[in-house]
Amino acid sequence: RIVYVNGDYINEHDAKVSIFDRGFLFADAVYEVTAVVNGHLIENEGHMNRLARSCNELELTLPVTIEELTHIQQELIRLNQLDEGGIYLQLSRGTAGDRDFAYPQNIQPTLVLFTQARSLLDSPKAKKGMKVVTIEDIRWHRRDIKTVQLLAPCMAKQFALSQGYDDAWLTEGGYITEGSSNNAYIVTEHNTVVTRPLSRDILHGITRQALLDLGAKHAIKIEERLFTPEEAMHAKEAFISSATTFVYPVVEINDQPIGDGKPGPIAKQLRDIYIDLVKRQSAS
Ligand code: PMP
Repeated sequence: RIVYVNGDYINEHDAKVSIFDRGFLFADAVYEVTAVVNGHLIENEGHMNRLARSCNELELTLPVTIEELTHIQQELIRLNQLDEGGIYLQLSRGTAGDRDFAYPQNIQPTLVLFTQARSLLDSPKAKKGMKVVTIEDIRWHRRDIKTVQLLAPCMAKQFALSQGYDDAWLTEGGYITEGSSNNAYIVTEHNTVVTRPLSRDILHGITRQALLDLGAKHAIKIEERLFTPEEAMHAKEAFISSATTFVYPVVEINDQPIGDGKPGPIAKQLRDIYIDLVKRQSAS
C-alpha cells in the first residue's frame, strides 16, 4: 500500500514518524475518516469542515489547504486503486525536540494519510443488525473535537466484544451519549427518530447531519433530545450511523430485543436513502 507522509507518497513499510511526535506522546493530533465508494470520496466536504474546526479548537495549523488535502486524498485513492473503503487522515502538532506539555512554537505538523479497502454497501451487520450493551462514558469533556485520544472507546469496544456484543452505547448522567465510534438513535412508538443534540458531549457526526437533512426531505420525524438506556431498551427501533457503516440497525440493547428483534423499517429506509446519496456522489 502507498501511504502519504508529509508531502511524500511512499510504500507503507518505508513510512516513518519520530518517537518525539506529539501525536505519539500526547495524542496531540486530530483525524478524519472519509468513506470511498467507486473511488469517490463521500460527504468529504463535511469531513474537511470538521477537520478545520478540530484544528481550530486545538490551535493546530493545517500545513496544506483543504483543496490540496482533497487532492492528496484523491491521489492516494488512485495510487492504491481503491474502489470501496475509507481514507484515514491524521494531523498531529508535529515532532518536538523533547517531551514538553506546552505547545512548542514553530514546529511542522505531521500529516499522514492511508487507505483501507473494505466493503461498505454490502455488509452483514446492515442485514443482521447489531447487539449493543450500555456502559459508562469515561471519555473527556471535548468529544466534539476529533482527536486520536481513543483509548476509552477502545476499552468500551473491547469490553462489548468480550461480552458477546457488537458494540457499546455510552452513558453519562443516565443518558446515552453515543456509540464507541458512531452516533446513536432510537425510534419511538410514534415513529419519531430520536438522537442526542449536538454539544461538547458527542462527536458531530457527518453522517448524522446528512441523515437529519435526508430525514427532513423524506418527511421522517427526527427529534434531537436526550434519551435513557431504559427508553432505548423499549424503543420500537434503534440504529447507529458513521461514515463507513452508513446506517446499521441495532436489534438488541442489554440483551433486550428491540421491537421484534429484527432490523426496523425506519433504519432500513434511512440506510437506503443514505445509500442513494452515496451512489449519487460516487457516480460522477
Ligand atoms: N461518534 C464517534 C465517537 C465517532 O468516533 C464517530 C466516527 N468518526 C461518529 C460518532 C460518527 O461520525 P461520522 O458520521 O462523521 O463518521
